[in-house]
Amino acid sequence: MNSNIVLPGFEEVIINKTEVIEGTLCLYVEMPVSKHTCPNCGKHTMKVHDYRIQKIKHLKMFERNTLIFYRKRRYTCLCGKRFPENNPFINRYQRLSTEYNQAITIRSIKGKTFKETAEIYGTSASTIVRRFDKVAEDTVQEEPNALPKVIAIDEYKGDTKKGKYQLIIADGVTREPIDILPNRYKKTISHYLRKYGTNVEVVVMDMSPSFKAAVRQALGKPIIVADRFHFVRYIYCIGWG
Ligand SMILES: [Zn+2]
Repeated sequence: MNSNIVLPGFEEVIINKTEVIEGTLCLYVEMPVSKHTCPNCGKHTMKVHDYRIQKIKHLKMFERNTLIFYRKRRYTCLCGKRFPENNPFINRYQRLSTEYNQAITIRSIKGKTFKETAEIYGTSASTIVRRFDKVAEDTVQEEPNALPKVIAIDEYKGDTKKGKYQLIIADGVTREPIDILPNRYKKTISHYLRKYGTNVEVVVMDMSPSFKAAVRQALGKPIIVADRFHFVRYIYCIGWG
């Protein structure tokens, strides 16, 4: 049966069947047969070699955990090469859909706790922690430029191999994460701000008084330290950002 349903991200996909099994939405999908270029000889082929069903974890749809059962096709070429077809929802050697991957990468940083993020995405906290570690690694390896005038410092609670808390340094106006520090020790933030904080004038944070004092001291000049609530009112008043 060819369905008329079009789901976001599945525009070119044939959805053969959908059903709910024990609360989980299952989508049975395949790609239309199409001309593929052989990765070995560069010639075109449409000759199907075989199929196998691949189970893929996807983003929740209609508030339900969602699995894709992808009837994955392999093509064969006259030169003898066999290769999998192109598809829009999963990369090679993955078990998670591309969209799911992107979502948990972002939410591993922006979510409230690893546990809550895991519940929302129907996965384990350790999966989210591993993702967070990966992002932290990629981010921290990059040498940041000088920090902007307004920064926000947030602590992030969770159990990673790097310690129970991390600090997220974000642009205070756009909220874009700039950096992730592996712990919330005062010496870590002090060292970091001495190195990159020359331009900082406003720090938005809801942290302990002693932590705030450490931040002021590290920057070594008069700065405004604002808590989130007051800062949000402030930028609305002056129309900043
Ligand atoms: Zn070929």
